[in-house]
Amino acid sequence: MNEYIKNLKTPIAIVGMGRSGDAAKKLLKKAGVAAADIVTFDGKLSAVDFNDPNKLMSEAKPGTLVVSPGVPLASPWIQEAKKQGVHITSEISLACAFLTTERLIGVTGSVGKSTTVSLLGAGLAAFSPTSFVGGNLGIPFAEYAVGILEGTHPISEWVVLELSSYQLENCEGLQLEYSIITYFTSNHLERYESLEHYYQTKWKILSLTKKTLLLNKEGGDLVEYFKKCGSTDQVEIVSRQDEKLKSLRLEQALLIGQHNQDNLAIASTLALQAGWPHSAIEAMKKFTGLSHRLENLGVHRGVRFINDSKATAMDSVLIATTAAFDTLSNGGKLFVLLGGRDKNLPWHELGTLSHFKGIEFVFFGECRQIAKEKSLLPGVSFNHLNEALDYIQSSVKSQDTVLLSPGGTSLDEFTSFEDRGNFFKKWVSSFSTL
Ligand code: ADP
Repeated sequence: MNEYIKNLKTPIAIVGMGRSGDAAKKLLKKAGVAAADIVTFDGKLSAVDFNDPNKLMSEAKPGTLVVSPGVPLASPWIQEAKKQGVHITSEISLACAFLTTERLIGVTGSVGKSTTVSLLGAGLAAFSPTSFVGGNLGIPFAEYAVGILEGTHPISEWVVLELSSYQLENCEGLQLEYSIITYFTSNHLERYESLEHYYQTKWKILSLTKKTLLLNKEGGDLVEYFKKCGSTDQVEIVSRQDEKLKSLRLEQALLIGQHNQDNLAIASTLALQAGWPHSAIEAMKKFTGLSHRLENLGVHRGVRFINDSKATAMDSVLIATTAAFDTLSNGGKLFVLLGGRDKNLPWHELGTLSHFKGIEFVFFGECRQIAKEKSLLPGVSFNHLNEALDYIQSSVKSQDTVLLSPGGTSLDEFTSFEDRGNFFKKWVSSFSTL
């Protein structure tokens, strides 16, 4: 049996049975831990051994807790268990025990993690078919280790992990060759006593990094925080203006928005440092974005379409609209689809968009009236998204852009933002074949 796993005190309790907990359980079993030595705990789910932490501790008497990122490590009962000598570990640490020659890259930040990880994934797909991309985004890391044990996944040359601050709190054994912090801004403060504590947790990634930690120069409080920590050669600040990036022509990228230029700059700098071939950077430039998040659907019959169906906060709508407007073709007009279901949103914050000349707002769905009245933005309005799309179909011209960045949730007409985004994508496909 694997040395790390053999030394875990049994029984082993998996705390939090979401995707990460499930993967941890699968890995422990695959690694030869007897089913009787594994117990499961979840505060909410019913298909587990324990729902009450006191019962878990008094009845099962676990020697090890594998704590999922969704469960705060600071929970008094976990802290008490630690004091009593119970070993605290995580799904990430279990997976690390099975690594051999893999070279690891870790990405964290308040925003921009998933995009940057996906960019690196797109780069790796161009030259390293064995690579693994996952962690907090997509496939849990323990699934990779299961694949290795089963012989269904080859040993990856490169592994890219998206790491949330919760994962960074509990990751013994994790060693990264390179790392990235994309952005620092107040987020998840409900689980941290202060902003400083939250930043400190993310900054821990530096101590796990053997070579270089890259920081986004435009990353909110990031550079300021770095200066406060005292400079070190191991940290490099990356800007999309960097001279060494000029020849890469990153401005040709399909990803939309200045913030994505920053994400691309940092991913490309990593690729250069890690010695990835030029084809990796070209592949990153062709990455069209995560589904439903400022996703570039391309130009059809001269009209560009952008799917930002996930945007259900005013900030996201403002970012998307500004990004689409900044990259409008000469003489083109921007149609912005706003609506869905209201959740008492501060629509008035969109009022600043009235200064942009060349935008037409098209309201749709249950909250069309509220959105229009509160934002004070002019525009036609329709009961349903398909009627709004019919209107757009009859109004768009070559050079125009159509952006779905609704602000409201999808639940008035659809089951999810994905469902709404897919409806829009289907309509775009039919538009392109008209
Ligand atoms: P995360 O995985 O950290 O939640 P995403 O990559 O999914 O982040 O991006 C979420 C949102 O954060 C985007 O839709 C965009 O509005 C914003 N964002 C992404 N990258 C950046 C960045 N580099 N700077 C500022 N905002 C960003």
